[in-house]
Amino acid sequence: MSKLFNFLNASYNGEKSGSNMTAKTMDELVALCKRRGFIFQSNEIYGGLQGLYDYGPLGTELKNNLKQSWWSSMVYERDDIEGLDAAILTSPEVLKQSGHEDTFSDPMVDCKSCGERFRADQVPDYCKKEDLTEPRQFNLMFKTTMGPIDDGSSFAYLRPETAQQIFVNFKNVLDSTPHHLPFGIAQIGKAFRNEITPRNFIFRVREFEQMELEFFVIEGSDEEWHKTWTNLRIQWWIDQGVSKKNMEILYVPDDELAHYSKATVDIMYKFPHGLEELEGIANRTDFDLGSHTKDQENIKIHSNVMNNKNSNSRLAIQNKETKKWEIPFVIEPSAGVDRGVLAILNESYKKEKLDNGKERIVLAFKPHLAPIKAAVIPLKRNNDDLVQKALALKSTLQQQKLGRVIFENTGNIGKSYRKHDEIGTPLCITIDFETLDDQSVTIRDRDTMKQSRMKLDDIPAYFRNYIEAKTI
Ligand code: ATP
Repeated sequence: MSKLFNFLNASYNGEKSGSNMTAKTMDELVALCKRRGFIFQSNEIYGGLQGLYDYGPLGTELKNNLKQSWWSSMVYERDDIEGLDAAILTSPEVLKQSGHEDTFSDPMVDCKSCGERFRADQVPDYCKKEDLTEPRQFNLMFKTTMGPIDDGSSFAYLRPETAQQIFVNFKNVLDSTPHHLPFGIAQIGKAFRNEITPRNFIFRVREFEQMELEFFVIEGSDEEWHKTWTNLRIQWWIDQGVSKKNMEILYVPDDELAHYSKATVDIMYKFPHGLEELEGIANRTDFDLGSHTKDQENIKIHSNVMNNKNSNSRLAIQNKETKKWEIPFVIEPSAGVDRGVLAILNESYKKEKLDNGKERIVLAFKPHLAPIKAAVIPLKRNNDDLVQKALALKSTLQQQKLGRVIFENTGNIGKSYRKHDEIGTPLCITIDFETLDDQSVTIRDRDTMKQSRMKLDDIPAYFRNYIEAKTI
């Protein structure tokens, strides 16, 4: 049985307690995402292509901010991790050695009654057992022709995970940087899986992004590092605004482990459709480097790897004392960007009753994730003096390079505030007629809705402090 552990009582820092802020249903999130330009169904005007979504203007900012936050915590704030941005098209040899060609498949059944195909563990209730075919294995990798001849002899895969390109670049990175074990290589990028039943909005899609770290360690220290990375990753999600009470950790049972894994911990999140995996942290042992390495017979490899005749590199490190070549073990925290975006949207979504009996929807993003950091709004649309002042302030704030600032020229202040609550803009700054007289503006806080008067000259410093103080 799966072992679920709710770590409500464990001590992770900086988490706000309080009322349940998450969205009620996935439909509410999907509708908001479309209405405000976060996420659209891909190829929508031609009826849509299943399992694919496009990020609109605000979704792009949110996603970039989440990726930037991960990159900063992995690469910039540590001294033992380097970044990589490898090709998506991948040689079949790489994915043969990794085991993907043989094992990256899901068992699939067809329903003779409704004519649809399902993953064997995801058959809907309306299909009767007697209508189902025996399960067959279905490989999830996308193939594409490479080169001018389209006879199937020359093809590449669209990578199903970013990890394998990290392993095959292990020597390149090691030889070009000053690192020794333990050290890691981080990568963010697209991955492709021909999921049989893509569903639940951006939770399970066919083209998605991963944020993966491969952290190479000396054999024997792997179990300790596995714990360390599990704790670091939980804390990171909390720092992005994901509440502890909505996460659980799952120790994947031995009989469900992937072929390369000695132990895997999944960070599970209560998505609107249920508790599912947000990130997996696996102890991949020496499987991957061992499988991609040449000269396997002369190196001790613990895992059961495939014989390798084609690699021209030894993905090992020479022990300075014994002079023996040793294959590092690897700990892999692997998170889905899209699942992260969905969790953050769900966490941030609040529906509040206001004193005047009305309701407002707020996306209470942490400022570092907010797609728009501040909106500058002239009180009246066509007034040249107000518009020029607003444009100048927008430009000054934008130059601080804290993220996107927008000039909001709708002329309807109430509507603008509602919109910016709904897209999660932390600060709105209004230029009105008083501004022209006394150089002061109104600044409105998204979370408290408090409005205060402030000198125009003080706004840039206030803005910087506000965003930086709340940025982890
Ligand atoms: P699942 O069991 O939900 O199919 P998985 O165990 O196959 O996921 P991994 O291979 O561990 O997933 O991939 C690492 C991460 O990549 C996952 O934790 C998830 O966040 C993300 N991911 C995997 N498949 C998809 C997908 N089809 N759509 C969106 N994100 C995905």
